[in-house]
Amino acid sequence: MAENLELKNSVAEALEKIMGISAVQKGLSFLKNDNDRTSADQKELTSIPAPTFDEGERGEYYRRRLEELGIEDVSKDDAGNIFGLRKGTGNGPRIAVCAHLDTVFPAGTDTVPKEKDGKIYAPGIADDGRGLAAVLTLIRAFNETGIETEADILFGATVGEEGLGDLNGVKALFGQDHGIDGFISIEPGSPERITYLAAGSKRYEIIYKGPGGHSFGDFGTPSAIHAAGKAIAGIADLKVPEDPKTTFNVGIVSGGTSVNTIAAEARLIIDLRSVSAEELARVEDEALSIIKEAAGADSGITVEIKQVGDRPAGSQDMESAIVQTAAEASRQLGFTASFEKASSTDSNVPIALGIPAVTLGGGGSFGGIHTLEEYFDPQDAYYGPQAIFLCILGLAGVKGISSPLLGFHRQNDSEGSL
Ligand SMILES: [Zn+2]
Repeated sequence: MAENLELKNSVAEALEKIMGISAVQKGLSFLKNDNDRTSADQKELTSIPAPTFDEGERGEYYRRRLEELGIEDVSKDDAGNIFGLRKGTGNGPRIAVCAHLDTVFPAGTDTVPKEKDGKIYAPGIADDGRGLAAVLTLIRAFNETGIETEADILFGATVGEEGLGDLNGVKALFGQDHGIDGFISIEPGSPERITYLAAGSKRYEIIYKGPGGHSFGDFGTPSAIHAAGKAIAGIADLKVPEDPKTTFNVGIVSGGTSVNTIAAEARLIIDLRSVSAEELARVEDEALSIIKEAAGADSGITVEIKQVGDRPAGSQDMESAIVQTAAEASRQLGFTASFEKASSTDSNVPIALGIPAVTLGGGGSFGGIHTLEEYFDPQDAYYGPQAIFLCILGLAGVKGISSPLLGFHRQNDSEGSL
């Protein structure tokens, strides 16, 4: 406990020092005055369609924007992620700050924003149009103030965050040699919102196949549907803990030909989730053995198991530097930090790798996420970027003022420096 208190004090002390710098105050008022331009960026970005797996056009536009803002070495990797660098003094850790390019809306969806009663309506305007625009206003604030950070900051955007994208962008990012020590992902949400726990999920498509036949004439021939039924019954009886929350679901069942045909094929899609990597692995093992057993040895039924989703689970200490810095940053602006339940965001991947990561709210209010009625209300939305600005400064350290609160955590380097 004493250690935690020490950390809390050092975090508060660092942020108070940072708040005392005139350039930081200038940055905070710049962010406030930049609110309208940020909304304009948000509309512009949202109007370029970016379904998961088809983020190219929006990505190219984003790359140009980062380059125009003076970010160095902006590049697009093989996955389609767009990242560039704002160099620090060279002595600090490296922090990635990003949002996701993709939306859940298929090609052909009208994403051109429409305004009504002060709100902006467009599919994807909040998720994650807000995050993308927030990254740009943050870069402008850094440019405007000229603050020199100890840490390098990688600014950018990922692909494949939604649905079947399965976090492929952020997985690719951490598969490369960027030496990222800390990760901030910006999603729609209020400035006090801090997500630091990663709910993992595994999804499988299961196909049972058999010879099929006439229900009367070929009675005794094994049925693919009967096998699938045994599997469902077994899965339904799985025991999972409430804490850490772990769940299972057979979401889709299909198969069979007619009422008097022994089914030659049956298909299931299952979803397994947990906030604990161990529990997720356990429920996965149990479900897969039930699925295999249901086919029965030598019964003439085969089972094909295809993984269609894999989002890693993980947790980190609420008392860790990144979580406490995010909390203190929102406190400095008069908010009460709210620690969110585990969810599935780009931060899942670094958290599972043991690299500190948080998903922070980009500010403003919103509704109808993932629906055609999605909207964003830009009123006072600048509090989101302001809190993230302070959080980045605290983690990154400001030359001559404060040391980085973030330690070195890059992969294959478990030595924290705090
Ligand atoms: Zn999102």
